[in-house]
Amino acid sequence: MSFRGSAIRVLPDLLISQIAAGEVVERPASVLKELLENALDAGATEIQVTLDQGGARRVQVDDDGAGLAKEDLPLALARHATSKIRSLDDLQAVATMGFRGEALASIASVARLSIASRTKESSHAWAIRAEGGTPEPAARASGTTVLVEDLYFNTPARKKFLRTEQTEFGHCEEAFRRVALARPDVAFSLKHNGRVSAHMRAQTPAERATVLLGREFPEASLPVEARAGTLRLAGLAGAPQAARPRADAQYFFVNGRFVRDRVLSHAVREAYRDLLHGDRQPAYLLFLEIDPRGVDVNVHPAKIEVRFRDSGAIHQFVMHALKRALSPTAAEAPIAYATVSRGAPIRPMQSGLGLAQPAAAYQQFMATAVAGAPLPATEASPPLGYALAQLHGVYILAQNEAGLVLVDMHAAHERIVYEALKSNLDAGKVERQQLLVPAAFRAEALDVAAAEEHRDTLERLGLEMSAAGPNELAVRAAPALLANGDVAGLARDVLREIREHGPGGALSAHRDELLAGMACHAAVRANRLLTVPEMNALLREMEATERAGSCNHGRPTWYQLTMADLDRLFLRGQ
Ligand code: ADP
Ligand code: MG
Repeated sequence: MSFRGSAIRVLPDLLISQIAAGEVVERPASVLKELLENALDAGATEIQVTLDQGGARRVQVDDDGAGLAKEDLPLALARHATSKIRSLDDLQAVATMGFRGEALASIASVARLSIASRTKESSHAWAIRAEGGTPEPAARASGTTVLVEDLYFNTPARKKFLRTEQTEFGHCEEAFRRVALARPDVAFSLKHNGRVSAHMRAQTPAERATVLLGREFPEASLPVEARAGTLRLAGLAGAPQAARPRADAQYFFVNGRFVRDRVLSHAVREAYRDLLHGDRQPAYLLFLEIDPRGVDVNVHPAKIEVRFRDSGAIHQFVMHALKRALSPTAAEAPIAYATVSRGAPIRPMQSGLGLAQPAAAYQQFMATAVAGAPLPATEASPPLGYALAQLHGVYILAQNEAGLVLVDMHAAHERIVYEALKSNLDAGKVERQQLLVPAAFRAEALDVAAAEEHRDTLERLGLEMSAAGPNELAVRAAPALLANGDVAGLARDVLREIREHGPGGALSAHRDELLAGMACHAAVRANRLLTVPEMNALLREMEATERAGSCNHGRPTWYQLTMADLDRLFLRGQ
């Protein structure tokens, strides 16, 4: 195609709207987001969402808000027509969710849109269809119904980009969740294909978080509440111990608007730094309130990005507020290992080691007898030696030629399983084991869809699962190496990984990450009692495993205390 000789033309209105729609109306979920925001701007206290076929066939939002007068109906559908701002000053202090006056026009250019609305003053409702209609009398209580049908019916190229019904519904659910989390004071319901999938009355923020994010979330979180000048940060910050492998429960709202922002996510990462293992992700639900003049929400039509006037101050405020909220746990368990390093001095205050010795010696004798192994003292012993005992169900004590070996059995097992999974996968297929009782778990619609869509990839990873309901998955077979572990947790992580990176990415660039996550669910949990032969077997596997010196999270799996180290400890020969 050549542009030479073509004249410059003003584009027709419909085409302008369709171009704009490309930015606002990405999929049914974006339609839902816009309609929900309009309902909230109209002061609704109760909002009903009705979807069909993942929203592609129908997105309908009913509200009990202020409504539109007859003469305003055609205007609501016109481009750049809004009741929310009048001037640049208004724009700079905008307190409503909408203000660009283009959502309805954009949606109407790529779908069939109609509105029925009634104000408190009107004796009856008026309805209008976007395709050139004029308002006609209709029946409904005060409030507004916006109905959007057959998305992309007139732009088939874009329709092709719609994913499966389950996937689109999953995105709609997420859009709904974001809005409902921000407004616990409003009642919401969600219906898909005639079935009610969520229903919540007006409630406290904590109740709303429980309904939408599950009971575990508030229970494993710390309250955040901080103020500085006109700034306020409130909400819940997930405890570091409850961090997850994926960033899938991170909700940050600025003046009630869900946002993804570099400054804010960096502040959060800084606050959690040194509290999390490796690339674990914290869960959080945070609300930042700021003078609207201090933040520009008009950066992108979908308004998911913002720009702060003083981003440095916001960063400091959010980071310190979170750090303070998280500090009670900073002294607790998981951080301890991060601070232990290989060369850390051994403190001689603990008497446990000494006291345990007679019993350990006895057990060591039994161990070699049971295992039928040669006595370590008389022959060259394997590098990690022979197990003597297990300490508090967490550490294995072993004796080798150099002295004492201490093994973190959970970390070691995790590394072994991880390496085994890798070679399994390299060899073509992960060995599967049928589960006697399928492991069922609650799943989002997106996960149910992904399980269906990526069945082959899952099978290569040794997982077989199927839908047990619209929001439930059942694992029927798991990798043999992991079948005794937390199978449901494993399946959830694998699905998330595949959703995030696609099946190709999960098995190539992100393969090691994926397998490490899987191994994590398999490994012997701390506090499980092992017999001496089992411990010896673990030591032998460690010797045969590559990189057995550290677990998948980079923690050491074992330490050597030489006889010289021990002599020094007891001030022998000094
Ligand atoms: P914006 O929200 O940016 O103003 P929209 O295209 O989303 O633009 O909506 C245009 C106008 O239609 C709004 O300014 C508002 O006056 C009116 N409107 C839309 N939805 C509703 C609703 N649910 N209740 C009342 N008025 C509405
Ligand atoms: Mg709007």
